[in-house]
Amino acid sequence: MVTLNPEISMSCQQNLELRSIINDAAHLTADGAGIVMVSRLKGNPLPERVTGCDLLINLLEMGNKKCWSFYLLGASELTSKKASEVINMKYPNVSILGRYHGFFDHREEARIVDEITNLRPDVLVVALGAPKAEFWIHKFKNTLNARVAIGVGGSLDTIAGTVKRAPVIWQKINLEWLYRLIKQPSRWKRQLILPRFAMKALFFKENCNGPTKD
Ligand code: UDP
Repeated sequence: MVTLNPEISMSCQQNLELRSIINDAAHLTADGAGIVMVSRLKGNPLPERVTGCDLLINLLEMGNKKCWSFYLLGASELTSKKASEVINMKYPNVSILGRYHGFFDHREEARIVDEITNLRPDVLVVALGAPKAEFWIHKFKNTLNARVAIGVGGSLDTIAGTVKRAPVIWQKINLEWLYRLIKQPSRWKRQLILPRFAMKALFFKENCNGPTKD
């Protein structure tokens, strides 16, 4: 599953490997007000925005009812540990089969892949940031015995409480990106892509072979 935000969407314009990975996903959600707005402008409206964090919380809620197992990969060791404790407390019927922080080296990677393959989690949560998570999942998806793998960005930080998510009112008025920018000003360079995404959405037409000017 991929939660598609304007940043990944713009990267797909140049990065054909990423584009093919995204096209190969079994399930895509619109992770950003911009994606939903574009869908409306193009006459193919998507019902709502579904961020990685929303999706993860929903999967945990459903997992709590259905006793699903999860593996958490990514974020700092401290965040990963805290997120796993919060999940155990809030969703007692969910089992966290294992977890590993997201700053592993090449040798650790082989161990992580073996561990996930042996543990067979229902849901593999990959919090390595985008598009690193998407590349990682794609590289190992045929080896890993997870039923679902999903890149969730910084969601483990939110669950652990190390990063505070925008209050619901900011989310409702489509300004979550501004809240994040105020709280984490170091993201400003990444957010420069947003006006470019808006311009492209308004003035360019996309076809299967790549972008063409309208
Ligand atoms: N991260 C990681 N390994 C890396 C790079 C990032 O585990 O090599 C984690 C980072 O600690 C954070 C998450 O990936 O928890 C990325 O969060 P961000 O909000 O930047 O992701 P986005 O929502 O933009 O994809």
